[in-house]
Amino acid sequence: MFNIILFGPPGSGKGTQSEKLIAKYNFKHLSTGDLLRSEISRKTPLGLEAKKFMDKGQLVPDEVVIGMISSALDSNRDVVGFLFDGFPRTAQQADALDKLLELKKQTINAMIALDVTEEELVKRLKKRGETSGRSDDVNEQVIRTRIGEYHQKTAPVADHYKKANKAVFVKGEGSIDTIFDALSREIDKRLPK
Ligand code: AMP
Repeated sequence: MFNIILFGPPGSGKGTQSEKLIAKYNFKHLSTGDLLRSEISRKTPLGLEAKKFMDKGQLVPDEVVIGMISSALDSNRDVVGFLFDGFPRTAQQADALDKLLELKKQTINAMIALDVTEEELVKRLKKRGETSGRSDDVNEQVIRTRIGEYHQKTAPVADHYKKANKAVFVKGEGSIDTIFDALSREIDKRLPK
């Protein structure tokens, strides 16, 4: 299996690029944001609990998302690899992911981070709010809280993968296709021959 993390702040294009990457490489897409929104629309107890944090732009507690990823890994055994999108978002989640994959004799092959400036992020998220139906994209204060959570808790996760020599940085501004080509090149370099 070949497992990658698509990393970057909210609005950096992880969702858009993930869709294109899974179509090209057949990875199983695991987006914790999508999984949480599905729990919310089904009004499950987990969804109702998570919504309280998401509405404010705060991260959902680690044990909730780690549990969700653990069951997703268990229920997708025959896949070419996983594309993690929006996970891990804290150091504790990164450690938990290492352990879960190790139990399956698997590892992360690369963490690819999308670099985008803060003003561009806010602009994109507000624009997305006009059509996405996501309440956390509409309010500028919630958007700023999400970016703040990213700087405080998520950005340090990159160091975890830098130390393991698995971190790759790609410019996340430009056309969707240019960014997609840059991501594809990084993946192709690392895929087993
Ligand atoms: P996203 O769709 O990735 O932008 O995530 C939307 C919201 O879901 C975030 O602002 C968090 O509240 C929550 N969320 C998604 N993934 C995680 C995660 N790995 N850890 C904690 N909260 C998360």
